[in-house]
Amino acid sequence: MLAVLALTMTLQISPDDMIKQVDPKRLRANVEKLASWHDRNTNNPTVDEAAEWIAGEYRKIPGLQVEIWHYPVKKGPRIKDDREVPEVIAILPGATDHRVVIGGHIDTINMSQVREDRSTQWTLGSPGADDDASGACMALEVARIMAQQKWNNTLVFVAFSGEEQGLFGSAALAKRAKDEGWKIDAVLSSDIIGSSKDLQGFSDPHHIRVFSEELPPGARDRQGELLPHHNSRELARVVEFFTRDQVRDLNVKLIFRSDRFGRGGDHTSFNRQGFSAVRFTEPYEDYTHEHTADDKPEFMDWNYLANVTKINLLAMMQLANAQLAPENVRVDTSQSHDTHLTWSGPVTQEYIAYWRETTAPTWQFSKRVGPVTSTVIPKVSKDDYVFAVGSIGGVPVEAR
Ligand SMILES: [Zn+2]
Repeated sequence: MLAVLALTMTLQISPDDMIKQVDPKRLRANVEKLASWHDRNTNNPTVDEAAEWIAGEYRKIPGLQVEIWHYPVKKGPRIKDDREVPEVIAILPGATDHRVVIGGHIDTINMSQVREDRSTQWTLGSPGADDDASGACMALEVARIMAQQKWNNTLVFVAFSGEEQGLFGSAALAKRAKDEGWKIDAVLSSDIIGSSKDLQGFSDPHHIRVFSEELPPGARDRQGELLPHHNSRELARVVEFFTRDQVRDLNVKLIFRSDRFGRGGDHTSFNRQGFSAVRFTEPYEDYTHEHTADDKPEFMDWNYLANVTKINLLAMMQLANAQLAPENVRVDTSQSHDTHLTWSGPVTQEYIAYWRETTAPTWQFSKRVGPVTSTVIPKVSKDDYVFAVGSIGGVPVEAR
């Protein structure tokens, strides 16, 4: 038995065999477990209990280092009293210290009566099956499957908290990551990913939206502070590229906005610290259930959640084995119908060139160019196409 186990730990499992392991029944059992608490409000001990439970599930996975981290929150409109809030961080060490983060939030809120009485937000029930047990359980499922083998990069699985109060948990973690010098290459945040239809009967089981922000150079916040650069749009674009037609019945639909109107998510906290981060959300959110006692497992679509989990897993498998991103990616601007690209980076690794028409949102063409720092794309004009170069599996860098 031990010998068999040792053998399976060293086997490289194919992507096809990995995505086959995504189990809608296990996703369902885990979402139902989280939704069985009366609430998981960040103000209540229930959030500590839910954090303990999901940390316990992560601890069952061999190779993961699991931490229940606490960060402080201050009394405010959605915080009853000053307190320390738990957040679960599970790390699968890789060959390098570059990190890929994936997660969803375990906390919930009930906003249905809050106009009449603010305290109802933490006293009324909020099972939060779709918002966001779906995202938290997706990350747990991805961890179970990916922990079976070794990866180039270090993988960080997070059950965020304090999201509904103002992204407190992700803001605290993104700040910690910045302060501790984490080299985060990508953050995949999933929030509301488990139902393909709303109560009006609108349905789209074939798409998962991926939101991404792109800052113009020199962008500043409302206080006039320079916003840190990140590469979230290219992360979103390559997630679409990695997963295109790879999962039966589901593709990524890119939304070139940071989030839905008037809404926020944990990816934004990472963007603010200069990390590339995107948000996954179903196309037809049921607004009548969100943030009420009716966000229940019975309204979920387990096959859809499994398909979204597969998309995340496929993207993670690429990002997990990515090598270093190229730097100084340049397009030679001298007149020619060929395009000459140059970049800097180690030649102990391979690169891939991407290109698309100037009006196309997604990468239409790609070519592995090998362990080199320049390449020519013949008869493809730089005037008519946008180019980028990436490491295999990595987030590409646009050629300028
Ligand atoms: Zn949410």
